[in-house]
Amino acid sequence: MNNYLIDAHCHLNKQELLNDEQLLSFWNTHNFSLFINSVINKSDLIIKHNKLQIRHIAGLHPYLFFEKKQDFDLEDLFYMASNGDIIGIGECGLDKRFNNINDQISLFKEQVAIALEFNLPIVIHCVGKYYEIAKIIKDNFPKALILLHGFTGNKEIIQLFNKLNTYYSISFRLFNKHLNIETLLNILKTEQYVFETDIELNTFTDIDDVISKYQQVNHFINYLSEFQNIDKILSIQSKSIKSIFNIL
Ligand SMILES: [Zn+2]
Repeated sequence: MNNYLIDAHCHLNKQELLNDEQLLSFWNTHNFSLFINSVINKSDLIIKHNKLQIRHIAGLHPYLFFEKKQDFDLEDLFYMASNGDIIGIGECGLDKRFNNINDQISLFKEQVAIALEFNLPIVIHCVGKYYEIAKIIKDNFPKALILLHGFTGNKEIIQLFNKLNTYYSISFRLFNKHLNIETLLNILKTEQYVFETDIELNTFTDIDDVISKYQQVNHFINYLSEFQNIDKILSIQSKSIKSIFNIL
C-alpha cells in the first residue's frame, strides 16, 4: 500500500460528485486509495462507490449537535458502533468558539466511553482546547487511541499529546498563512501522522475545485519531502492508518 494516498478525514456528502469521471480519474492517477468519511448526518452513512474504498466514522460535534444540526444522538452512535457501521468515533471534541463548554465536555466523555467499549479510535475536533482534551483523556481514558484531526497545535501541545496514544492529521490548516515549520517538523518526528482534506463535498459544485483540494495533499507531501524521505512519509501514513483504524 506504500505509494497510496489516503484522505484520513473528509465529508463525501454528495453522492453525485463521487460519480464524476474526471474526479475518479484524478483519484485513480494520483493513487488515492482510501477515504475516511466523517458522518455528520445519518444519510452520510450510505455514501459509497464501487470504485472507491470508503469507510465511515461518526460522532457528535461540539457545536452542530447542540444546534440540532445532526440527526442522530448518543444512542444511535452506540448502535452504529455495535453494528460495525463505523471504524471510529468522531469528529467529537471541544470548541472554544461556543459558549456551552460543560455540555461539550459531557458529550465528549460519553463518546470516548463508547469508543473504548468498542475498541475504536476517537477522531478529535478541537478549537483552542487542546490542554483540556489532553487532561480529560489522561485522567479518564488513558487507553484511548486519538487522532487529532485538522491539527493546529504547537510543539508544546505535541509533547503533551505524545504522552498519550496520539496520531496527528496534517491538513491545509497547517499550511495556511501561519505556516509553522517547527510544528510540522515536530509532527514528522512523531512518525504518527496522516493527511486529510476535510473536504465537504456538498459545498462544492465545480469539480475542478474538488480536484484542487485533493491536489493540496500532493503539495503537502512534496513540501514535507524536503525534510523526510517521501517513501518514508507514505509508509508512515499507511502504517498510521492501519494502527488507528485497524484496517488495510
Ligand atoms: Zn470534518
